[in-house]
Amino acid sequence: MKTCVECLSKNLEQINDTIEATVNDKKIVITDIQATKCTDCNEIYYDHAASRYIDKQIAIFKAESDG
Ligand SMILES: [Zn+2]
Repeated sequence: MKTCVECLSKNLEQINDTIEATVNDKKIVITDIQATKCTDCNEIYYDHAASRYIDKQIAIFKAESDG
């Protein structure tokens, strides 16, 4: 991605993002997500690999909390 979809800025930078999600009523924190951030409007974009990474972390968390 080279242009922000929200504000059309080209000031995008690669960041390591951290998000919180709720799984089975428990909070999970996922760190080191490779993301692209617009420095003008602070919109954050996840590419396909990042989305897969997030899904995987949630799946691991679910598997552990089920046991
Ligand atoms: Zn933007």
